[in-house]
Formats: sequence, C-alpha cells, structure tokens
Amino acid sequence: MAEVIFNKLEKVYSNGFKAVHGIDLTIRDGEFLVIVGPSGCAKSTSLRMLAGLESVSGGEIRIGNKVVNNLQPKDRGIAMVFQNYALYPHMTVKENLAFGLKLARLPKDEIEQRVQDAARILEIGELLDRLPRQLSGGQAQRVAVGRAIVKKPEVFLFDEPLSNLDAKLRASMRVRISDLHKLLKREGRPATAVYVTHDQTEAMTMGDRICVMKLGHIMQVDTPENLYHYPRNMFVAGFIGAPEMNLKPVTLVRQADDCALRLGDQLLALPADKADKVLRHGAERLHLGIRPEFIRLHQDGPADNCLEGELVRTENMGHELFVYFRVAELELTARVPSEQAARLLGNEPGLKVRFALEMDKAHLFDSASEQNISL
Ligand code: ADP
Repeated sequence: MAEVIFNKLEKVYSNGFKAVHGIDLTIRDGEFLVIVGPSGCAKSTSLRMLAGLESVSGGEIRIGNKVVNNLQPKDRGIAMVFQNYALYPHMTVKENLAFGLKLARLPKDEIEQRVQDAARILEIGELLDRLPRQLSGGQAQRVAVGRAIVKKPEVFLFDEPLSNLDAKLRASMRVRISDLHKLLKREGRPATAVYVTHDQTEAMTMGDRICVMKLGHIMQVDTPENLYHYPRNMFVAGFIGAPEMNLKPVTLVRQADDCALRLGDQLLALPADKADKVLRHGAERLHLGIRPEFIRLHQDGPADNCLEGELVRTENMGHELFVYFRVAELELTARVPSEQAARLLGNEPGLKVRFALEMDKAHLFDSASEQNISL
C-alpha cells in the first residue's frame, strides 16, 4: 500500500524538449487514478518516470513517502503492464508468471502459491500450460496483468494496456481490471493503480479520479462526475464526453434587468446566477459550453432559451440521434431520443429546426484564459 506523490515533476529530454512542466499530483493510497489526455501530452513520460524507466529532470517522485528519483525500477515496489504484453514466447503461461519471481529467488512453494493465486483472480487457471501464441488477445492481456499481480507490488502501473484489443474486448477488459482492483481491496490488500490512456471512455469508467493532461501540464484532477459536470476549463470540457460538449463563441448583451448571450444571430436568456458570475468576472470574450444532451428538440410555442437553426445531418445511434444543426455559421450538436426524432430522420439538410437549451446546465468560459467562470 502506498501513496504516490509528484512534486514539481519535470522532464526535459536530451534534445532540450521540455515534455513535463513541473506537475504536482497526489495519488492516494489504494486509489485507481487514470492519467488521460491526447497523444503527446506526456502521459507516458510521466508514468515512465514513476516506473524508473526514464530519468527525472526536476522535482521529485515519492512512493510510500520515500523519494524514488534515483531508485532502480525493481526497488520501487511497482509492477507495470504494457500495451504489447511482452510475454516470453517460448515459455508457458505458468513459466511467464513465475519468471520474475524465480529471478528474485523466491522459494518454490511461495512462487507456486502466488501463481495459483493470480490464476484464480484472473480466471486463467486452464491456460497455465499454454504458450503465448495459443492465447487470444484478451487472454494474453490477462496473463500480462497476472505477471504484475504475482509481484505483489505496492503500485500497479498500466500504460495503455488495452489499445491493441478490439472494441468489444476492450470493454470487457476494462471491467475486469476495475473488478480486479476492487477484489484486491476486498481481500485486504488494496493496491494503488496508475493507468494511462488516451481514451476518455476508459478514463471515465475506470478511474476513482482522473488526471487530465495537455502538453505536459495538468488541466484538472477530479472524480469522473466532477470532470463531466464541473470542468474547470475549455480543454477538459471538450475532452471529456462524447459527442463533445458544444463550445461556441458568444457575446454578452446587457438588457434592462438581466443579461442575454448572442450566439450567431440569436439571443439566449442567461440565468441570473450565471449572469452574476459573468458580470463579476468581467470577461470580454466568452464561450458558451453546453452538452448535447442538454439541447432538446423544441416542438412549438415560445421559449426564451430557444435557437432556430438549419439541419446539417443526423447520425442514428438506435435509441437516440445525434443531430447536427447550424445557427448562422456555428454548428451545434444535440442528442435527441429516437421517439422524438422521427420527423428529422431522412430529412434533407436545410430543414428548419428549433432547439431549447437548458441554460442552467450551461457553462461560460473566458475565451482568453479558457477558464470556466460560471462554476
Ligand atoms: P503521450 O504518452 O501523452 O502520448 P509522451 O509522453 O509519449 O506523450 O510524449 C510527450 C512529448 O515528449 C511528446 O511531444 C513527444 O514527442 C516527446 N518525447 C517523447 N519521448 C521523447 C524523446 N525520447 N526525446 C524527445 N522528445 C520525446
């Protein structure tokens, strides 16, 4: 069991490129923390520094309150699961599981015990005598996880472990890895897990908390719920959630008693509490952020939070439609339940459509700083 701390952690590669810009992060004892962000944001660099596979250029890394900057990987109490499972092809599953323990000169019966224990937890007991080439992708990945479990590490590190699997298998492995983390906790040996992925669905479904990174900086560390509902900046707002949150430039229009937002050529009423925050902040240029599920198809009658637009296209997901529509030059996305969307199906682009925006669910961002000013 161990807490992991990054303290002003920096990485400058030998070519002078600064990949990690002094990040601070505390990963709690027993927590499943996911580091997520687009390619190149330095997820792997950060994880590899934690693993000891990459040197630290500045700041420090602590595992269980011990500074590990200069410790060998094998002395850090960690075990890592990679994307390419890296199983030894000429060894059976059992030999693969036992190999690291033999190197560490553990007694034979202890090795046997740990291998059987991992096989039970991962349900790979019947695969122990197979060679890696006789395994499916999912089975090989389970063995790779097993090789980490037998080490009984204080911290599990996962580097995009599911990227090589097809979508269906990825979904089931996601659940298995989460269940495994919970099982270890139930069995009284909780493990801290740090899991790197570029896939926001993996992050949302697996993380106790998620650390969102961009270009070597941390954008927000929070629970999945908070990231989704209270993104601190435009980057997090746009990165978390699919289809993406609508993020559109708007201008604030002051009216007699209240405020409105001009989006394209139309006005939207701004709830009083949000208007207060925006006025207090005093930002000149704003972006409105609203998730597609908070944009409802409006049938008829007046409404002061409505946008009139032109249909661009629809995508039929079965139970719902993603509806893309244009207001002036701005394209927005709405999620519409199928039973309400019949009249849109098969319709030509250009059809006039009206949508009501749930403005109490909207966010307002300062376009210059990209910070959320409506929280
Ligand atoms: P991610 O895992 O988020 O895709 P990486 O940690 O692999 O990102 O890379 C972060 C940044 O560091 C990228 O811009 C990448 O090009 C750069 N980088 C990675 N490895 C090296 C290296 N050995 N030398 C120089 N730059 C590197």
